[in-house]
Amino acid sequence: MLHIAFIAHDRKKEEMVNFVTAYEHVFTPHELYSTGTTGLRIMENTSLQIHRFMSGPLGGDQQIGALVAENIMDFIIFLRDPLMAQPHEPDIIALLRLCDVQGIPVATNIATAELLVKAVERGDFAWRELVHKYKPGTQND
Ligand code: PGA
Repeated sequence: MLHIAFIAHDRKKEEMVNFVTAYEHVFTPHELYSTGTTGLRIMENTSLQIHRFMSGPLGGDQQIGALVAENIMDFIIFLRDPLMAQPHEPDIIALLRLCDVQGIPVATNIATAELLVKAVERGDFAWRELVHKYKPGTQND
């Protein structure tokens, strides 16, 4: 089971909902997280259960970042709006930085998101199961 997060800026939310709906069967077995409104929109349109954090501008990106820092999050689909400034730009940059620190795949547009979902279907993320199994602090220590 993978830990997957969804974040979409306002003008990208419809694209996110369409995307997650199309691949609902792929996401169903996994542990899903999101920022507040993104998760609400997805849950209104699918039968997925999503752990919703705060809205992005109120700290949701940072909450997801905390799971990246702890090497719990396996990948993130983060549909950013490249044409509009965001009040929480520092949080966005911090989240992307943490993904690079931990080597966590993060899709910032739908084309990359599509590739990641195909990778999940193929089982390319199996190595992440090992990361969880042998993570320091677990009973496998
Ligand atoms: P939201 O947050 O899902 O609560 O809208 C995402 C964002 O805008 O950063």
